[in-house]
Amino acid sequence: MNFDLQEENLIIKPYKSNESIYVREQKGVYQKIRRLLSWILIFIFISLPFIQYDGQQAILLDIAKQQFRFFSVTFWPQDFILLASIFMVGAFSLFFVTSWLGRVWCGFVCPQTVWTLAYVWVEHRVEGTRNQRVALDKQPMTFNKLQKKGIKHFLWLLMSLISASTFISYFVPVTQLYNNIVQLDCSGTVTFWLCFFTLCTYGNAGWLREKVCTDMCPYARFQAAMFDKSTLLVAYDKSRGEKRSPRKLKDDPKAFGLGDCVDCNLCVEVCPTGIDIRNGLQYECINCALCIDACDETMERFNYSKGLISFTSEQALSNEKSKESIIK
Ligand code: SF4
Ligand code: SF4
Repeated sequence: MNFDLQEENLIIKPYKSNESIYVREQKGVYQKIRRLLSWILIFIFISLPFIQYDGQQAILLDIAKQQFRFFSVTFWPQDFILLASIFMVGAFSLFFVTSWLGRVWCGFVCPQTVWTLAYVWVEHRVEGTRNQRVALDKQPMTFNKLQKKGIKHFLWLLMSLISASTFISYFVPVTQLYNNIVQLDCSGTVTFWLCFFTLCTYGNAGWLREKVCTDMCPYARFQAAMFDKSTLLVAYDKSRGEKRSPRKLKDDPKAFGLGDCVDCNLCVEVCPTGIDIRNGLQYECINCALCIDACDETMERFNYSKGLISFTSEQALSNEKSKESIIK
């Protein structure tokens, strides 16, 4: 639910507006961690089906034979209670991490985030920087625009196809699957799932992106229930930042009665969900820390101390005895 105050009338919009979000590419400590984790996870996802053990695919969920092979162990349908237990342990671990570190799962390792990061990276390489993408979308259709859009969507579809075939290779022996794909000789069932997962990946990571996190993911909705005052969240230090205002590099903010926020808007431009963290804790925030890196860069440029936006807790911000901010 989105509330909008307009001329003293409270307008309630049931859905968020459909404005496109043009994410500015940002470098920084947290983005290095995110990229490294993304590469590691993608590498593991793609390479696991190729591992052979004892002359067979080491990890294979063979639905036709109703068996799940995991290296030397084979699980049968009656063993799936074990799988349920593993899922339960995984779920409770996730809840524990969420109450401790907030939505780090969402911001750093969720497949939706990892895939979107890769698709946005491709978009940036093909269509250019944030400002160039905004300008390109405003232009009427020209050959240059058509070419850029065509290349981007081709690459997105190719990535989706690779992703879909990798996923299916956990269910169909990898050598058989890729032989069939190369020879265009897949069964009807495999062809259906290949097209289905290709389109799902293309739609989710290419088009829907943050809407999956803000409007579709059920986990996003109930995570706040696991937060307490010591949960680490991405937050803006209002007492230090306000009163915000642009200024020159050499200006002394105290002389003008200003806080440290120079109102450069970078924290908003890098945000993949399009929010302004200066407005306080919002359910759309996935704790990706892009705004931290962006703000730190600005603070460095103005020779102010970093951490105006940081991973911190409500307690730390209100100067109570608590865990310290990760970045000072
Ligand atoms: S507010 Fe910051 S941490 Fe939250 S989603 Fe936006 S950029 Fe990421
Ligand atoms: S990046 Fe930092 S300085 Fe710039 S507007 Fe955001 S909070 Fe203010």
